[in-house]
Amino acid sequence: MAEIRDELLYRQKHIHDVLDGEELRLSQEYCARYMDYLQKAKTERLAVSEAVRLAEGYGFRKFDRNAPLRAGDKIYRSVRGKMLLLAVIGRGSMEEGANICAAHIDSPRLDLKQIPLYEQNELAYFKTHYYGGIRKYQWVTIPLELHGVVAMKDGSTVTVNIGADPEDPVLYVTDLLPHLAAKQSEQPLAKAIPGEKLNILLGSLPVRDDKGADRVKLNVMKILNEKYGLTEEDFLSAEIEAVPAFPVREVGLDRSLIGGYGHDDRVCAFAELQAIYETENPERTAVCILADKEEIGSVGVTGMISEAFECFMGDICAKQGAQLRHCFESSFCVSADVTNAFDPTWPEVSEVRNSSKLNYGVGIAKFTGRGGKSGSNDASAEVMGKIRRLFAENGVVWQYAELGKVDEGGGGTVACYMGNRNIDTVDAGVPVLSMHSPYEVVAKHDCYMTYKAMKAVYTNI
Ligand code: MN
Ligand code: MN
Repeated sequence: MAEIRDELLYRQKHIHDVLDGEELRLSQEYCARYMDYLQKAKTERLAVSEAVRLAEGYGFRKFDRNAPLRAGDKIYRSVRGKMLLLAVIGRGSMEEGANICAAHIDSPRLDLKQIPLYEQNELAYFKTHYYGGIRKYQWVTIPLELHGVVAMKDGSTVTVNIGADPEDPVLYVTDLLPHLAAKQSEQPLAKAIPGEKLNILLGSLPVRDDKGADRVKLNVMKILNEKYGLTEEDFLSAEIEAVPAFPVREVGLDRSLIGGYGHDDRVCAFAELQAIYETENPERTAVCILADKEEIGSVGVTGMISEAFECFMGDICAKQGAQLRHCFESSFCVSADVTNAFDPTWPEVSEVRNSSKLNYGVGIAKFTGRGGKSGSNDASAEVMGKIRRLFAENGVVWQYAELGKVDEGGGGTVACYMGNRNIDTVDAGVPVLSMHSPYEVVAKHDCYMTYKAMKAVYTNI
């Protein structure tokens, strides 16, 4: 009966039982590279600049639409420093379609408001407006660092980086002490920390020998002026993000997990990057998308809905006299975004048969969305069949992934925007514990398998 059982019933495999010694070593090596990338890529801009630095080491060059383009060429285009598009030109024509993987590199965080600096009762603060889906109570009483740019009136740009260097101070949002939190504790979690209380503490010392008001605020501005040449008015044209200052670390006594800020979705972005870096002379053109703005709806000039994608793909097509519409029609896209890992401490929100689990490989989601698949790409059976075949042929361990029980909630990815372009698309990504929290957790083997999945898409479709 055992034979019939193996033949007829679907059973998922734990990756640790599947990988041989060599692959266990490759998995470790890959994850060390990913941890290094994640540590450096704490914002979308940093994710782009670090990806470009690595890409140039692998022979990628900036795409010049006026220069010749040949099979095997490795090119990239940074879209305003916040979205990155890379391609390895295939031997076949773009008319036959491209193999595309699309991840996003923005993560939930606290953005500074445009008039952020103020003083209250002799303490100085920044006002913030959170970005993306955060649970506000998780963002208080943790160390924060600041990254971003200030576009100065003279046309120059100043890069802000405070807290990433271990010698730097970190910043902080306060919360009530339990002794005085009886009323707050009666509030629902979503209301206990109002957005307008996510104020970042900056300092407590006044400027000496000054009789005016706001001496602490003035002292903070003096420090920023000495370090960056900024005046208060310059915040009007600044884009500064506060992100958790935790280091990326191994998690668990067996070191099988990785803790860090922004696995969603840099864990898939890096899988795509490493895969395309290693892609040489593919049959179909390989395209890697690292999009911005996914966490707020993929809108804006650097989001997945932006025509920046058509511009890049159209420029490649034009070099070959190919039609962009024909290229899209025959292309295949993996929307590489994280999914929720089944959490045994919170089993009630998931349906265990269809939920992804840590260490069972890259999670494939036929659909996402909420309330009856609303807003979802909902890949066809044929697309799912293609993925099954591809992964089976390339040793990719994968599992099915559904983001929560029916009607429990839900979420979206960039998949629907690729589908809207007449591109066959399916969602695939790394299962994450505590998604969107300041310190998310993934399993190393799942990261490695996602990289293998992206590689299979680039080289074997
Ligand atoms: Mn995501
Ligand atoms: Mn997300």
